[in-house]
Amino acid sequence: MASGWAPEGAVQEQIDASIKDAIKKARSEMPVGESLKHCEKCDTVMPQARRKAVPGVRFCFNCQSELDKEKTTFAGINRRGSKNSQLR
Ligand SMILES: [Zn+2]
Repeated sequence: MASGWAPEGAVQEQIDASIKDAIKKARSEMPVGESLKHCEKCDTVMPQARRKAVPGVRFCFNCQSELDKEKTTFAGINRRGSKNSQLR
């Protein structure tokens, strides 16, 4: 059913954008190789599209974004730490 006020495409575009972003990140960080059929972390079945889009993929989208978040946080702490390293 067509709804005039909330285009479904907008949400899909956002999802596509974040997936593309994650893929771009994953590509630069992951070794190219065999894609796993199941997520290494939570054992979720990897969608064929993801395995195709990300060669050597090891984690599902959820786990990968969690890892990316952790990495980003860690990098942020590191950066701050080196800037202000006289804490002791
Ligand atoms: Zn997972």
